[in-house]
Amino acid sequence: MSCELTQRFVPGYLDGELDLVRTIEMETHLKSCAACARELESQQALREALRRGSLAYAAPAGLRVRIQSSLGASTPQETLNAPAHGTRCGSGGGRARSPYL
Ligand SMILES: [Zn+2]
Repeated sequence: MSCELTQRFVPGYLDGELDLVRTIEMETHLKSCAACARELESQQALREALRRGSLAYAAPAGLRVRIQSSLGASTPQETLNAPAHGTRCGSGGGRARSPYL
């Protein structure tokens, strides 16, 4: 198996999705090729880091408070700028009249 194929199959190998023949070919190649073995180790390490959540970024503690206060401050303005009740298109129950008719 070539290096290109081996590295293409690494995700499937790690997921146990390869058939027996491909698995044996991969393992044979990995024993004799340091570059592909490093690729396998790299992807294994990445998967493990993702599983542990160590790559997840925790938002600053005050971010939620700032967003909530920002949303709370904007709500009254939105209410003031909203059209008055009954002035929306279609609220009269009939079709909107064209100024050209
Ligand atoms: Zn290789």
